[in-house]
Amino acid sequence: METVTLIPGDGIGPEVSRAVQKVIDAVGVDIEWKEVNAGAGVMDKYGTPLPDKVLDSVRKNKVALKGPITTPVGSGFRSVNVAIRKKLDLYINLRPVKTYKGAPTKFKDVNYVVFRENTEGLYAGIEHEVGEDAAESIKIITRKASKRIVKAAFEYAKRENRKLVTAVHKANIMKLSDGLFLETAKEVAKEYPEIEFNDRIVDNMCMQLVQYPDEYDVLVMPNLYGDVISDLGAGLIGGLGLTPGANIGDEIAVFEAVHGSAPDIAGKDKANPIALLLSGVLMLRHLEEFEAADRVENAIAEILAEGKVLTKDLGGEAATTEITEEIINRL
Ligand code: ATP
Repeated sequence: METVTLIPGDGIGPEVSRAVQKVIDAVGVDIEWKEVNAGAGVMDKYGTPLPDKVLDSVRKNKVALKGPITTPVGSGFRSVNVAIRKKLDLYINLRPVKTYKGAPTKFKDVNYVVFRENTEGLYAGIEHEVGEDAAESIKIITRKASKRIVKAAFEYAKRENRKLVTAVHKANIMKLSDGLFLETAKEVAKEYPEIEFNDRIVDNMCMQLVQYPDEYDVLVMPNLYGDVISDLGAGLIGGLGLTPGANIGDEIAVFEAVHGSAPDIAGKDKANPIALLLSGVLMLRHLEEFEAADRVENAIAEILAEGKVLTKDLGGEAATTEITEEIINRL
């Protein structure tokens, strides 16, 4: 039996989290879920959107499944999603971008993985006003953080038999910060002569991914570029409802979808649970439950290919609960 922390989140979070619990239960992996809550809903009780209780539970169990948590725009607290990654030093944000047959996209054979640096860059949150009419946001790039994310990308490529690692940057303009990232990536690449390495400037990377997505394999990049490139990837494969993710550190891993809390459809039984389910598949592989992971992924691939029971974002009319039942029936 594995013990896993469950942070259901808010918006569509609780609905899609339940779906994952049900599917994992149905596939026969014995997980004891320790449920803890974060976000606006716990502010009154704990005086913070991220109580220590949540972090302590994840530290103890080492593995968590997490639904999205709404971040107020412009004011209010900083992102809890970002705070969890920083406080637990989950420096790898892993986002696989893969097309499944039947997904609502004209792209085929896309299968690349984004390694996004998760702890610094423009997400360091160092901002201040300069007088009344200007504001400054500071981007931090360090050799240490760049080195460990690039190493993680190469180690993944080695383990998963991937052939190419591409570093994404804007070192032609940000010569010092992105320059350091690129220089570090080139140094790390020398340790892996068996894996091909190249680099792309981020704007060109966006164009290349739309024109020739099947030419890319493992992409590694600083924080903000990773955010943008992941959503571009979501667009390539049929939307945010299909895009999983994981935040990984040296000992702890938190699995969460790329999408946000989707307040427009929250509580309506309309959310697509597949993105968090595929994050659950990544979690099962992390727990070395490889057979169960394959069975869940195959069941998802089957219902996408058949195209009969799909949520609205995929062009169907099925409810969250219906698509979940359909996946369970396929197991
Ligand atoms: P955040 O800033 O937290 O990343 P966001 O503003 O980018 O959030 P999302 O909450 O991810 O936005 O939602 C963007 C759009 O995609 C919304 O219209 C939402 O309804 C839709 N969407 C996101 N996730 C899903 C899902 N799992 N199923 C169906 N639709 C979704």
